Amino acid sequence: MSLEETRTHTAVHVLKGAAQKVLGAKWTASVHVSGTHGRLTVQFDRKPSADELERVEEAANAKVAEGAEVVEFEMDRDEAEMHFGDAIYDLFPIPPTVTRLRIVRIPDWNINCCVENHVDSTGLVGRMRLGQPRFRNSKKELELEFDLEG
Ligand SMILES: [Zn+2]
Repeated sequence: MSLEETRTHTAVHVLKGAAQKVLGAKWTASVHVSGTHGRLTVQFDRKPSADELERVEEAANAKVAEGAEVVEFEMDRDEAEMHFGDAIYDLFPIPPTVTRLRIVRIPDWNINCCVENHVDSTGLVGRMRLGQPRFRNSKKELELEFDLEG
């Protein structure tokens, strides 16, 4: 993964935190990163309003401006579940044979097990601009597209 895509991938974690806080979207269905373009698909029950989307974008960019720490650590799976519950998981399952997890945490914002690379501060991500979202009613999935500026 290039540094550019490491930034974009880290931006997905920042955006997820914003989508969870503003919309209450808890579950990630899928993630896609290509260059400075990213897409976060979350489970959601409707198309958000323009105002809500603006608030998601603002919250994500405020977290970038804050330069919050991005912490990576490893933990035994059962211990991690005890501490963090299902907050560390996405809709796509991790095989039961995996007993140790790599966890990525932006304190008070987002926690997820993840094996990708991340920049160590949200300040290194750069500003995000959200595009038009797509809502798939049949799957109850909301696709949040974004581009990194600069
Ligand atoms: Zn990650």
